[in-house]
Amino acid sequence: MHAVIVGAGIGGLITALRLHHEGIDCAVYEQSEQIRELGVGINMLPHAVRELAELGLLDRLDETGIRTRELFYTHRLGPEILRRPCGLDAGFAYPQFSLHRGGLQGVLLRAVRERLGAGAVRTGHRLVGFEQDAGGVRARFADRRGDPLEPVRGDVLVAADGIHSTVRSLLFPAEGPPRWNGVLMWRGATDWPDFGTGRSMIIAGGTAAKLVVYPIAEGRAPGTKLTNWAVCVQTGQAGDPPPKRQDWAREGDRAELARHLGRFRLPLVDHVRLVQATRECFEMPMCDRDPLPHWTRGRVTLLGDAAHPMFPMGSNGASQAILDAVSLGGHLARHAEPGAALRAYQDERLPATGEVVLRNRAGGPERVIDEVERRAPDGFSRLADVIDAATLEAVVSGYAQVTGAARQQVNRPR
Ligand SMILES: Cc1cc2nc3c(=O)[nH]c(=O)nc-3n(C[C@H](O)[C@H](O)[C@H](O)COP(=O)(O)OP(=O)(O)OC[C@H]3O[C@@H](n4cnc5c(N)ncnc54)[C@H](O)[C@@H]3O)c2cc1C
Repeated sequence: MHAVIVGAGIGGLITALRLHHEGIDCAVYEQSEQIRELGVGINMLPHAVRELAELGLLDRLDETGIRTRELFYTHRLGPEILRRPCGLDAGFAYPQFSLHRGGLQGVLLRAVRERLGAGAVRTGHRLVGFEQDAGGVRARFADRRGDPLEPVRGDVLVAADGIHSTVRSLLFPAEGPPRWNGVLMWRGATDWPDFGTGRSMIIAGGTAAKLVVYPIAEGRAPGTKLTNWAVCVQTGQAGDPPPKRQDWAREGDRAELARHLGRFRLPLVDHVRLVQATRECFEMPMCDRDPLPHWTRGRVTLLGDAAHPMFPMGSNGASQAILDAVSLGGHLARHAEPGAALRAYQDERLPATGEVVLRNRAGGPERVIDEVERRAPDGFSRLADVIDAATLEAVVSGYAQVTGAARQQVNRPR
């Protein structure tokens, strides 16, 4: 069995590690000439961390990221709405991590090269097409200039090529571009003094404008952390064509961002100075895609954002890609016939992730603050006058059930 994996993002790299763990030979083909550790903050929930711990990567995650202890939701104008413990503090057997996305990719890339060999990740390979027959699949690649490269044959092809997946567009040529929800996101990260527990995450605001702040790595000076921030503002209507292509590396328009910062007041962090102190700021429309009727055709399947791109609510993008990889590895190891393995993987993961995509469209766990903002746009002095605690708790725990996170909570929260 040889698997051709397309894309060396989080999904492709974790798939290589899981397949190797199951004794399945594979190689990863990435379009970029060089894997640069791009991105800003990303989160990994305990049920995904468990899978990386099983691969012996927990120490490396600790060297790279932050064990998130608590998440608090606040009103746009500051008052607290709900505070929840995270990871070990919430009774899970594994921590929740907040990390730099490039740092996480670096951890996985080093592990792939150490375990599968230096040549296991082939950069400068952009997948342009594939053909399959009864005996296997033949993947065709081009280099940066568009010149064809030597085709590669495998028993299966796993497309982990992200939200603009080429393989997905070949399987579903009529689908068109990702769907925009009308929200523009600005993101960045810089060293900043610790706030809260030093491991706290804040989500403030509501549907119209949201501000998210959390630490993702130790800072260079004592008492500081590399601190991720995101400002998400409704500037269009859901279903409008996005104003620009969804691109994680696009430089942000700081003048437009500055106009929105005054909408928030955070008691713990001076977010205006935090944003001003950040050297690089990225901007992108918040996009997803409709769940698909199937991911697998013969010996070809989709994984991660290629299969189920979702809005970044509830920290599930990378976590669900990791769960995909575990499921795929298990089915490929158990089934003699590759097509049957890919169908079993799809049957297990497609309904589960489709539900998360749809829940995130409705706001995910952040519906707790959307609802408070709707009822009390100008703030409140007593939360109980606006909403009852049981309703808030029901939104957050209902979401955790859908994502699979709740199933691994072993102890009562501390
Ligand atoms: C540059 C970048 C920065 C990101 N930053 C953040 C962030 O800060 N926070 C966050 O929450 N999420 C971020 N994401 C998205 C996040 O990584 C994903 O939502 C999640 O981890 C699932 O990952 P994935 O591997 O499925 O997709 P991705 O991480 O998007 O990886 C897809 C990979 O496939 C490669 N690829 C695409 N097309 C082809 C092709 N035809 N042939 C070969 N290779 C191809 C891409 O270059 C990329 O390396 C970022 C993604 C990218 C690509």
